[in-house]
Amino acid sequence: MVQRPLAGIKRKWEEALGKEIPDEDWVRILEYPQKISRNTRLKYLQFNYVHQTYLTPSKITAIYGGEVRKCPRCGSIEADFVHMVWSCPHTGMYWERVTSKLQQLLHRAVPCTLEACILGLFSRPKPKKVGNRFIDLALALAKRQISLNWKAAHGPQISKWELDLMRWGKAEEQALRREETRGIRKNPVASLWAEVMHSVEFPDSEDSDDTDEDNGTEPPPIGDLDTP
Ligand SMILES: [Zn+2]
Repeated sequence: MVQRPLAGIKRKWEEALGKEIPDEDWVRILEYPQKISRNTRLKYLQFNYVHQTYLTPSKITAIYGGEVRKCPRCGSIEADFVHMVWSCPHTGMYWERVTSKLQQLLHRAVPCTLEACILGLFSRPKPKKVGNRFIDLALALAKRQISLNWKAAHGPQISKWELDLMRWGKAEEQALRREETRGIRKNPVASLWAEVMHSVEFPDSEDSDDTDEDNGTEPPPIGDLDTP
């Protein structure tokens, strides 16, 4: 059963999805922040997405009144949380590119849907556990770029996401190797992860923009060893 304080946020997501969320899916959505990554910053980021905690232009207008605040990217006056992270045309194009890149890398369908990309509801075939883990990391990093560029007119940039994926992906590979060496991890997955990383080459980044200083200075999550 869904507890009362969470009923409001569940209703918001149901409105955005245009359908009811079954209880078992809602439990998965609420547990996803703990499972999305071993990194606490990414867990917290996903928690903030599920609970829609960011201050949006619409929320600022509702709180302070006065002039209606618009989406900094497309100028829409309907700039609520779902608009900012998903339905803004600029963000929508970004997600199209993120998911098609992942399909290309993993040779597996990654649905470009609100429930998959934002809430983590996508099918996870068991034999491809490394693939699932990689998708979770990639989607978390895609959201991280949206958050880092929250007020920027250009919005999230695919080239920055690709760079993040390479850096964080390599750090994850090192962490998996350390766990295997110490015997913490019974199933050896580091070499499978390394295979995926080997195919992560992004020679065709089109919109690289080195003037954005939001990214590139934060260290990758090496050494953060809490269990995913
Ligand atoms: Zn917009």
